[in-house]
Amino acid sequence: MTTYEAVIGLEVHAELLTESKMFCGCAVVDSTTADPNTVVCPICLGMPGVLPVINRRAVEFAIRVGLALNCQIATTNVFARKSYFYPDLPKGYQISQYELPLAINGWLEIDLPDGSTKRIGIRRAHLEEDTGKSIHVGGSSLIDFNRSGVPLLEIVTEPDIRSAEEAEAYGRKLRAILQYLGVNSGDMSKGVLRMEPNISVRPVGSNELRTRTEVKNLNSIRSLARASAVEIERQIKIYESGGTVTQATLGWDEARGTVVMQREKESAHDYRYFPEPDLPPLVISPEWIEEIRRSLPELPDAKRNRLIELGLSAYEASVLVADRPVADYFEAVLGSGAEPKKAANWIINELFARMNKAALPSESIAQTHVTPAALAELIALVDRGTINNNAAKKVLDALFERGGAPAELVRQLGLEQTQDTALIEAAILKVLEANAAEVTRYCNGEEKVLKFLIGQVMREGRGKFPAELTNALLIEHLKKRC
Ligand code: ADP
Ligand code: MG
Ligand code: ZN
Repeated sequence: MTTYEAVIGLEVHAELLTESKMFCGCAVVDSTTADPNTVVCPICLGMPGVLPVINRRAVEFAIRVGLALNCQIATTNVFARKSYFYPDLPKGYQISQYELPLAINGWLEIDLPDGSTKRIGIRRAHLEEDTGKSIHVGGSSLIDFNRSGVPLLEIVTEPDIRSAEEAEAYGRKLRAILQYLGVNSGDMSKGVLRMEPNISVRPVGSNELRTRTEVKNLNSIRSLARASAVEIERQIKIYESGGTVTQATLGWDEARGTVVMQREKESAHDYRYFPEPDLPPLVISPEWIEEIRRSLPELPDAKRNRLIELGLSAYEASVLVADRPVADYFEAVLGSGAEPKKAANWIINELFARMNKAALPSESIAQTHVTPAALAELIALVDRGTINNNAAKKVLDALFERGGAPAELVRQLGLEQTQDTALIEAAILKVLEANAAEVTRYCNGEEKVLKFLIGQVMREGRGKFPAELTNALLIEHLKKRC
């Protein structure tokens, strides 16, 4: 039987977080919360006779992304009209770039679950404008033009991706890079970052490019992974039963976990691209490109390597850098004096667990009640022996629930460790009396009994006995009995 492999190329649309729109002075707002049609003007409404003006900041953001994706930046750019009619595109065309995109020939390195990496080629990235938004209510359709004219960067890969897992890894890495560059929030649920995989399959070993389909409407990285896997399977089944795949645009039904046929795909000539006569060629000076290159922030791969040098495992480092808000939070905890390994452990194993339980996504970490300074203080309380690990987890529960100062919570919850040796020794004597057989075994050289005995004593202390001191006192008392 033939084994198949997937061939995937991703098209990603990222809205750019500029203050104003691509070709007019209207503000860029959160189109999921702003009142509809409140930030519009004749230009972004597509009135006849108006003239677009290129947003310099949007060009700068696009160059940032191009450089971060190792692309060549074109010094001469031409905008083009991509003609098609949609109710949310009243001009009848979208201003985009066609033959001369802003960035070409780059690559991005993805991290795979088995710890390996792979380079995915970036074919092009070009600037365009977003369309308005249609909202279907009952039998009617409403249109909101707030989004119309928002700067949009389309980033297209080579068909280098070979599985749903690789598509997911690409999506995660690209989202992180855009967040780090400060050009996009990465919030796919709001539609500001949209990922569309083009998918075909072929027998392993062949290098043909078979007919592809394109899946739209994916609003999370998870849907990108799931939809890709489902579509790959669907195509394999078609070939296995002797059929052929037809080129099409598909939707994704998240609830059912299936793809839905939307329309047969248009090809480039249907769009009748031609140079936009209202805009002069956009010339970018090499000096400007170099200036932007020098101002690029530390990107996810570099940050991951730096965290590994601080003593974190590759896994911990990759988890912490995957989302910019998480990376910033981690660094803020370090800034408040915590040791890197401990901070990583408390965030990944404890804070994330509580956020998961509360159904909070990791990127909302800065909105929890646990401030970086509070987490650092909690770690310091454990380091100083004021509380033990178990007590610290209880304090974290309280912090997560209602916030506050860890030291104050320790007092409120009565979790402070005692320094009263008489109290500890009383508990030790009680445990040794009750476990005479274990004491004899210990004296006969069975060291592992110690662990059991210390557990019993700590239980007596209800979290208030400091581990080291208690351990030392217990050994002292045991020796006396041997
Ligand atoms: P269009 O502009 O019509 O969408 P492109 O040639 O720009 O087409 O390709 C869009 C995406 O599809 C790119 O990411 C490309 O790598 C990918 N792609 C092209 N051919 C195939 C194929 N046969 N199978 C899977 N992906 C493909
Ligand atoms: Mg396309
Ligand atoms: Zn406008």
